[in-house]
Amino acid sequence: MQKHHTFDSGLKYRPDYKWPEEGTERDCPKCNQNLELVANLDTYYGKPWWCAPCQWQFSEEDLDGTEYSVDEEE
Ligand SMILES: [Zn+2]
Repeated sequence: MQKHHTFDSGLKYRPDYKWPEEGTERDCPKCNQNLELVANLDTYYGKPWWCAPCQWQFSEEDLDGTEYSVDEEE
């Protein structure tokens, strides 16, 4: 009997976000509150920064953009 390589259907691709150093501080570009740095766990697929007031995640890349542009095209 052959062994088949099966992929766990629960296994998702984990985006390779640039993770900030522990202790780094960032402000939310929307509300200017301090962002929470989320722990870099294998089970976590989100972005490293979390703004509780906005209920929004940010990546380093999101924050490095100087202007926060929103697509408002109709
Ligand atoms: Zn915010």
